[in-house]
Amino acid sequence: MPPSDTPVLPETPAYDPAALEATWQQRWAEQGTNSPELWQGQDPYYQLMMFPYPSAEGLHIGNLFAFTGADIHGRYQRLQGKTVFQPIGFDSFGIHSENFAIKVGAHPAILTPRNVENFRRQLHRAGLMVDWSKEVVTSDPSYYKWTQWLFLQLYKQGLAYKKAAAVNWCPSCKTVLANEQVKDGHCERCDSLVEQRLLEQWFFRTSQYAPRLLDNIATLDWSESTRQAQRNWIGRSEGAHVTFRVANAHDVTVFTTRADTIFGATWVVLAPEHPLVSEIVTPSQRAAVDAYIDRTRTQDVVARKVNKEKTGVFTGAEAINPATGKAIPVWIADYVLMEYGTGAVMGVPGHDQRDFEFAQNFALPIVRVVVGVDDDATAPLTEAYAAKADTDRLVNSAQFDEMPVPEAKKAVVAWLEERFSAAPVVNYRLNDWCISRQRYWGPPIPIIYCDSCGPVPVPEDQLPVVLPLIEDFRPDDSGISPLARHDEWYRVPCPTCGEMSRRETDVSDTFLDSSWYFLRYPSADRSDVAFDAALTQRWLPVSTYIGGNEHAVLHLLYSRFITMALHDAGHLDFEEPFTRFRAHGMIIRDGAKMSKSKGNVVNPDELIDRWGADAFRTYLMFLGPYEEGGDYRDSGITGVRRFLDRIWGSVHDSVITGAADDSVLRKLHATIRKVSEDIPALGYNTAIAAMMEYVNVLRANERAVHRDEVLPLVQLVAPFAPHIAEACWEFLGGARSVFDSGWPAFDAALLVSDTITVAVQIGGKTRGTVTVSKDATQADVFAEALTQVNIAKFVVGEPKKIIFIPGRLLNVVM
Ligand SMILES: [Zn+2]
Ligand SMILES: [Zn+2]
Repeated sequence: MPPSDTPVLPETPAYDPAALEATWQQRWAEQGTNSPELWQGQDPYYQLMMFPYPSAEGLHIGNLFAFTGADIHGRYQRLQGKTVFQPIGFDSFGIHSENFAIKVGAHPAILTPRNVENFRRQLHRAGLMVDWSKEVVTSDPSYYKWTQWLFLQLYKQGLAYKKAAAVNWCPSCKTVLANEQVKDGHCERCDSLVEQRLLEQWFFRTSQYAPRLLDNIATLDWSESTRQAQRNWIGRSEGAHVTFRVANAHDVTVFTTRADTIFGATWVVLAPEHPLVSEIVTPSQRAAVDAYIDRTRTQDVVARKVNKEKTGVFTGAEAINPATGKAIPVWIADYVLMEYGTGAVMGVPGHDQRDFEFAQNFALPIVRVVVGVDDDATAPLTEAYAAKADTDRLVNSAQFDEMPVPEAKKAVVAWLEERFSAAPVVNYRLNDWCISRQRYWGPPIPIIYCDSCGPVPVPEDQLPVVLPLIEDFRPDDSGISPLARHDEWYRVPCPTCGEMSRRETDVSDTFLDSSWYFLRYPSADRSDVAFDAALTQRWLPVSTYIGGNEHAVLHLLYSRFITMALHDAGHLDFEEPFTRFRAHGMIIRDGAKMSKSKGNVVNPDELIDRWGADAFRTYLMFLGPYEEGGDYRDSGITGVRRFLDRIWGSVHDSVITGAADDSVLRKLHATIRKVSEDIPALGYNTAIAAMMEYVNVLRANERAVHRDEVLPLVQLVAPFAPHIAEACWEFLGGARSVFDSGWPAFDAALLVSDTITVAVQIGGKTRGTVTVSKDATQADVFAEALTQVNIAKFVVGEPKKIIFIPGRLLNVVM
């Protein structure tokens, strides 16, 4: 809306961020500026940021870097005229909060609300456009009632089950870890060496969803690195089950992705736990085999995977290689794990390094069956030859000799299939999700064990199963939940028959709490449903989700799985929760990650006290490209503060008489265009740089600033520095909030003198045009052309030739 005429003040009032920011934060709260009416309002836009773990005294600068970048994007969408819903909450259950409570010697039920309160205070100070009326706290019974409900929905669908499983156990955190939480055999959280334990655990059948979780990735507008991380985690591999006959025993089936190397398979190996071992072992080898199995039992799976020394023992049995027809020995070895594939593999020492070492240890024959184009097929191998190029071909493989590897992979399986010795299979690496935690600080899993009825789900109208307040909440080495020490809590009548029964004492994984919080936000004030169907349909899926890359695999995958499961149960009409996801970068300081132990942590409160939230926000975004992060330096913030001071001065000194300067207006419109392009692409640092450049032009030579030259600048800077923008907008006579004022449009006519339009052809066919500066070079025009999807899709690989007619035409010959 157009500002009314405002008299020019004789003197510029001082820019006092502390007072100004407090005033505007209070006005936003009073007027509900940041709480959109969710049932009305045009063009709903759901801007989501990853909610924090309140597992420390306060938010650190990295959190605020993440939130500010998301907030700028949300505020920009709002200035575009959309109804933006930007909620926040606290991921307050789980091991992070519990471990922090243990560390400081407090009870998590007392400490967590205190931390949450401090986080809230800091988030308010940072001036985020948060709808506080929809806050969620995952440790609050009003939230975890529905986390338990969610468990029951999956249980009803047959997607939750319990089994005894070898699980990753962190001896220091005293908890079970998901495979995803184990990095190179160590606890992701505390770096302790992870052990294996056999425990009864609840699992969700994520593996059943692997093909869909993989296929849908193609439809998502996500950072490519995140999409790739998801693909890798799901880990699809095409291979075959190949059958090896064993005399007087069952067949051994192996999984392989390299059936083309079968002519080089000179033995078969079973996992020591393989059920066939006891059947095939010969009497003379039984003692050796038993001893080996005993030794393996004392080892955990991690150690078995990373063991440098290849060990094993011959079973005395022989199997028939279905390709060569030759009898080959059957071994057992601890590097083969029962959980992977079929628990049996073929040994191909010529083309697998692990097998090569095994063959050397036990003097087993090495046969070369794949060679590169220029290789001497008769030279002995000094290490395994992994297929490197598509031109590699088979040798020593009967009728498949000379066939290229890619073709042979299929042909060998087809040939074996005709002889009933193989079947093509697709294997996924994605395991089921272990959601049990033998800890205290989480939602109790809503199951009751009855001697007569078996496991009985807690009826939905009896939810929540409230986590009792107990003093001895600390985990111990038993691997049993602390809740199991409390008879008075876990003894309850069976909901079905009334017989005295006991509650499940495990609580669920924190990742379950966060796997559905985005569904809860719009309905956070509803106590009768987890999420309102109509409201969910209106607001979801999430329009843009911004968060850390450390959650690129776990949290996003679990959220996708839960959304699919709820979709399949008829609760949701979509199956992907996040339309667009962007990962932000990290803030480091002096080249190192900030940490208390390094003493290089920056306290955001102090910076806001000194410079104001607007300068703090803008400075964080100026440190580097948002998706890459930046290196924090103490000195830089003064320049950003000066930039805001100058905007403040320009606004308050501005005049309405006369006309705006043409060359300044041209610069203004070029700036509007630049900022309008940069913000949606999260190019915040370059948007700020462009505005700074404009302010230099605006203030050059102490010239008088016309209001028309500065008013759109206030709108441009508003997403970054919302408080000062509001105050300036009000001073210039703008009504209501600057965030309801719309986004300034740039006048292309004003840019004409600086830019030209160039036609872009690919191989002589016109595929589009680009607008570039008058003196753009061939490289400039080509680079600009590649930013357009409709042109870029035709440019595959290196162009053969580029023809450039300055000012008119670029022809790329592929
Ligand atoms: Zn640990
Ligand atoms: Zn019963």
